[in-house]
Amino acid sequence: MTSDVVVVGGGLVGLCVTHALVRCGARVTLVDAPRPGAASRIGAGMLAPSVERTGGAAQGFLQAARDAYPDFVATIGDAAGIAIPLDRGGILEIAGDETDAARRRAGASGDAIWCTPDDVRAMDPGYAAPFGAVWHSRDGAVDPVPLLEALELLVARSSSVRRVTELVAARTPGEVRLGTGERLATGVLVLCAGAWSGTVVGLPRPIPVRPVRGQMLELPVAPTRRAAYGAGGYLVPRADGRTYVGATMEEVGFDPSTTPDGAAYLRGVAAALAPALRDVPVAVHAAALRPLTPDHLPVIGPDPDAPDVWYACGHGRNGILLAPLTGEVVADAIAGHEVRHDLRPFSASRFD
Ligand SMILES: Cc1cc2nc3c(=O)[nH]c(=O)nc-3n(C[C@H](O)[C@H](O)[C@H](O)COP(=O)(O)OP(=O)(O)OC[C@H]3O[C@@H](n4cnc5c(N)ncnc54)[C@H](O)[C@@H]3O)c2cc1C
Repeated sequence: MTSDVVVVGGGLVGLCVTHALVRCGARVTLVDAPRPGAASRIGAGMLAPSVERTGGAAQGFLQAARDAYPDFVATIGDAAGIAIPLDRGGILEIAGDETDAARRRAGASGDAIWCTPDDVRAMDPGYAAPFGAVWHSRDGAVDPVPLLEALELLVARSSSVRRVTELVAARTPGEVRLGTGERLATGVLVLCAGAWSGTVVGLPRPIPVRPVRGQMLELPVAPTRRAAYGAGGYLVPRADGRTYVGATMEEVGFDPSTTPDGAAYLRGVAAALAPALRDVPVAVHAAALRPLTPDHLPVIGPDPDAPDVWYACGHGRNGILLAPLTGEVVADAIAGHEVRHDLRPFSASRFD
């Protein structure tokens, strides 16, 4: 099988790009080699454009990504026969003190609703919110693991996708060289290599994506009903009774280790937000590398000087939120379909 498009990286972004390309009629070679520290399975799955704000023209893209999630998850889950839990109960942003509460209360409007401590207790008695909270009523959370499993299954089933389990070492015009030395011809190349996106040799320009480590804990109980930020972290209750506690932000290069300090920090977050979690034993302690750019916006679109090279990387703290919409716009653009979103804020040329 010859292939129209070579996708480099099979995390959530690469899988969404591959799936969307196939829907547009492309034949795809998906080249992915597992790297310690790959982010998508470790991400919390917060769909939180109201909290993880970018502002500016990109903010509309984040909100559109959130609003497209219910249909996306329903379509993928039905096609794969896998239930993908999606929490649409909004996200609480819990105030840390009186000053913080006054500021948040003054800023609450539209979908962001101010809740007194009594309101929070009535809404979600598992949280301690002595100064109140803002409820971002349209945000939510997805469990990324079943979503990844569903996409893996659909991609594996597709006769239009060839999978190659190798690292891409380098790119030259019209081809990529694998770690084995084998060369693959690329009609179009889409770079979705997460935190490693800037490390592929021979890209048309430097891509300033760097790894930012995040450690998380999983606790085997869920005393809360909806996701919340506060105390320097966040909690995401899962539908099956686990709680995700996130996450550190650490500049340690490509080191995906966990540390005792990271675990202690996250235990503090959990206990402050939901006191019932204080002495619960840790089921999972893991870390992964977020792909972060200098302005925290992803790189999405063609290379300005080499239009056969496309970028879909650098999604930072919002990669799970943005992956499905990234896949859609990249596939539509490569297929020559109309793209209904302004991709200019995400152009690689902004770093020139
Ligand atoms: C602790 C933590 C919590 C997070 N929480 C959230 C959240 O709540 N909401 C949210 O939206 N986002 C969240 N994120 C961010 C999100 O997880 C990432 O932005 C997203 O998963 C990035 O997906 P990706 O496909 O670009 O990268 P990855 O998932 O890292 O996948 C990249 C893939 O490319 C492969 N690869 C790398 N180099 C090569 C190469 N040269 N050749 C072949 N294959 C290669 C890797 O092995 C990997 O399989 C979180 C991240 C962390 C670490």
